[in-house]
Parts: sequence; C-alpha cells; structure tokens
Amino acid sequence: MTTEELRALDRSAVWHPFTQQQGWATEDAPIIERAEGSWVYDTDGNAYLDGTSSLWCNVHGHQHPRIDAAVRAQLDRVAHTTMLGLSHPGAIELADRLLAIAPRAEGRAPLSRVFYSDNGSTANEIALKMAFQWHRIREPEGRRFKFVYLDMSYHGDTIGSVSVGGIDLFHTMFRPLLFEGIRVAPGDAAGLERVLREQGDEIAALIMEPLVQGAAGMLMHPDGYLRAVRELCDTYNVLMVVDEVATGFGRTGTMFACEQEGVVPDLMSVAKGLTGGYLPLAATLATERVYEGFLGRFEEFRTFFHGHTYTGNPLACAAALATLEVFEDEDVIDALQPKIALLGELLEELIAPIETVRSIRRCGFMTGIELVDFPLEARMGHQVTLAARERGAIVRPLGDTVVLMPPLSIAQDELRQLVAITAEAITAATGAGTPRAPAAVAPASTPA
Ligand SMILES: *Cc1c(COP(=O)(O)O)cnc(C)c1O
Repeated sequence: MTTEELRALDRSAVWHPFTQQQGWATEDAPIIERAEGSWVYDTDGNAYLDGTSSLWCNVHGHQHPRIDAAVRAQLDRVAHTTMLGLSHPGAIELADRLLAIAPRAEGRAPLSRVFYSDNGSTANEIALKMAFQWHRIREPEGRRFKFVYLDMSYHGDTIGSVSVGGIDLFHTMFRPLLFEGIRVAPGDAAGLERVLREQGDEIAALIMEPLVQGAAGMLMHPDGYLRAVRELCDTYNVLMVVDEVATGFGRTGTMFACEQEGVVPDLMSVAKGLTGGYLPLAATLATERVYEGFLGRFEEFRTFFHGHTYTGNPLACAAALATLEVFEDEDVIDALQPKIALLGELLEELIAPIETVRSIRRCGFMTGIELVDFPLEARMGHQVTLAARERGAIVRPLGDTVVLMPPLSIAQDELRQLVAITAEAITAATGAGTPRAPAAVAPASTPA
C-alpha cells in the first residue's frame, strides 16, 4: 500500500490511544515502518530520532542484534505456551535474573518472587490485588480496603490502576466506577503520616512512582521522600507498592530508582523497558513475606486467582533476558553516566535560555521541559511535536511539557542533535524571540 492508501485506511479503521480522533483526521502523522538504533523511519523514507524511546520503553536501541537473535531463536522453539499449570525456561531464568538485579538494602528481606503479566497497568493492578488479598487473609475481620496514592500519579489505564491515578484529566471521568483511595500530596511525608495515623488500619497499601512522576510531566520528589515513605509504611503496617514501570531499567541513571534511596518495596511493578521495548511483558515482584501470606491448603482458598492468557509469554521473556544481558555485557549503566551529564549541559545551553521555557525537570534520562502558559486550544506541546517532526525528531508532550526520554543507547552526537532539534522546535512553535538570560536547570538527581 502507498502512504496515502495507508493513511486513508488508518483514518477510516483505526482508533488511536490517547488521541482526539477528530483532529487526527486532519494531520499527516508519520507511518513508521522500520527502525534502527535511535532512529525510526516512515513509509516515505523520512528518518526521525526516537526522542521518547517509542513511549518510554526502548532501552538499547531498535534492532539490537542480541535481542533480535534471542527472539528469533525463541521463535524456532515456541512462540507461546501458558504459565497456568506449566512453566518454561525463559520465564524461570528471567525471574532469577530480575530478582538478582532488584533493589536491595542491608537488613531488609529482598524481593524474592516474580509474577508475570503483560503491561504496566496489569502489573500495578496485580500489586494492588495482592496487597488487598494479603491483608484479607491475615485479618479476615480487618477493614483494610483503601489505597493511598499521590496527587498527579499515573499507574495505568485499567480500572484498578485508574483508581489510584491522580491526574484528573485522565481519571475524573471514571470516578463513579473506582474503588476508594486516599490522595496525598507528593513530597509531603508529614501529611502522609497524618493520614496513616488516622486511617492506617483501613489502608491496604500505598502506591507510588519512585523519585519522579513521569506522566505528571516529570514531577520530581524531594530527596529522602521515598525513604521516608518506606519508614512510614513499615510503622503503620501498610504495604508499599513501588511502580518502576517508567523509572526501571536505567532511566533514572541506576537500574531502578529505588536504589538511589536504599529502598526495597514490598511489591514492585516493572514493564516498559523490561523487554528493551520489544514486546509486551510486565512483572510484579514480591517479598517472601507477601508471598508466604498466600500459602495454604487448596481448600483454604488463599490462591491468588489472577492470570492472563499471555502471562510470561516466551518470546517476550527471551527479549527480556537478552535485554538484561546487554545491560551487563555492555556496561550500560556506567556508559550512561557521561551521557546524563551531557544531556544536562545541552539542556542548560540550548533549552534553558529560550524565553518560552518555564522550567526543566530532569532525573537521569527522564526530562520534562515545561513551557510558559499558552491557551489550552493552542495545544502548544503538540505544536512543538509537529515542529520537531519536521526537523527529524519524534517527541511527545504531556500537556505543555515537552518530554525527552531517548533510548539509553543514544550516541552523544545523536543526543546533541535531539536537543538542538527540540530547541529549534520550541523556538519556532512558541514564536520565542530573543533568548533570555540562562535560567537555572534543576540538578539531575543522579547517583553519587
Ligand atoms: C506507562 C506507565 C504505566 C502503564 O503501563 P502500560 O504498559 O502502558 O499499561 C504505569 N505506571 C507508570 C509509572 C507508567 O509510566
């Protein structure tokens, strides 16, 4: 099919996620047919830098030879077999490797069990259900039915994960369908303590994104907050669920964000980068204490009755295993550190001086560039996306915050191009005139 034929069919047959289709029909969005390294190519042969890692999930670049080979080799064995009543080598080996790299802290029992699913929303949904059932089994007369979540949090789009979502634009519509939660202000440990003191015995778990709330527009937590939440959850016997779906696999400069504050959660969800951005796979990691709560004779019905058809899919597990091998063999986390520093310098040099940029928030390779206020209908974040596209980069805004989150494998010269294109796109779209004096760039919270 020609690009025009594909576009016509896209408009008549496809409903895109998070998209107002009425505007979509008037836009010529690129139709991506292949990708390599940090670049994606459309059906007209145009090349674009993948500035958001294909929605935050690509890690080692597109068509990484190692991951390609692992998926192909798995295809010669079996594409899918179930985890319900059976097992397979990939899921077993991956569980072992995931637990080996999971956050650890001295004097604290590590995460020791892996429950698979297919995406970040389900990984969180599972963590919430596990926390709920764990308390129900321990205290059948108890009333721990509520969850604490942070304002502006995002944990996915299924009803359970929406119930603990704090972004009104996405979540308010569904409020009558949702279960009860208690929303607290991010960064306010004292406020959280008040809630736990007053209602602790009604709360099953707290769920949060560690260090940075991605979908909120890269909202940064103050140093020590994650650690403080861990201590409060311990004090009030509330399970701590950490959603590392966006932050996991190197995004913040360490393998997991939790490491930076020496925190081991009771439950941890991972997805996006787990397969290097190749295939849908997610996991919910649990400590032995949580796991053991579900043990009992069959007729006690402590079984965790939850599982998806494609849970632990072998092709996806093969991609994930290869992804973790690349982390190790290519020293990805070490190699990332100079690029994180360079990204900081480039933002300061090229983006901060633009007069229509209000602030830059960054944690490792997660960057949010907030524009000054424009009328809602101007859709300025979107205009920047269009201007960047014309110049050869794919970026996607969250409202009027332009997100930069390239693959960890991006080369230094590609990173320079990406930031330069973004600067030009912001200047062109917002009609910024002469650059103003350099503004301060928020320091990256990279590991010491
Ligand atoms: C993307 C994201 C999710 C949802 O993951 P899906 O795979 O899109 O369901 C959950 N939590 C966080 C922090 C995310 O960034």
